[in-house]
Amino acid sequence: MMTQIDSEILVGVGNLSDIDFDALIELNSFGERDIQEDKHIKVCSLCSEGEYCEEYELLFEMEESVRIFSDGQIIYDGELKLDEDTISIKVNFNSFTYQVLKSPKIEDHGLCSPCYPSQADLDAKGNFKTYALPNDFKRK
Ligand SMILES: [Zn+2]
Repeated sequence: MMTQIDSEILVGVGNLSDIDFDALIELNSFGERDIQEDKHIKVCSLCSEGEYCEEYELLFEMEESVRIFSDGQIIYDGELKLDEDTISIKVNFNSFTYQVLKSPKIEDHGLCSPCYPSQADLDAKGNFKTYALPNDFKRK
């Protein structure tokens, strides 16, 4: 049985059909390819010289199945870092789910299992503090 630390707020997981994509695309977005591009440019001598780089070209062929939408700054430095007090929503297009990583809207929900361990299901009742989808991004 998992116990919850008082100050801990869980990531809320929901079904993509909840989301108003017209509202979501107004936010900054950040994909797995962007992360890899950042990492590559930091270490590549060709890219830093502005020369043709085959590895960089290959990054553009990566599938974009995961994107994070946020109104704040997302920094990649070995791990993803999100500003506090932002809205940050990770969209998993392949599994048709979204994860609310940060949100000013907090609700009580039950745990999500088994796909997203230690995260909460936004459709389940429970008493875990959970980041929920702000109303502005809910499909009407
Ligand atoms: Zn390069």
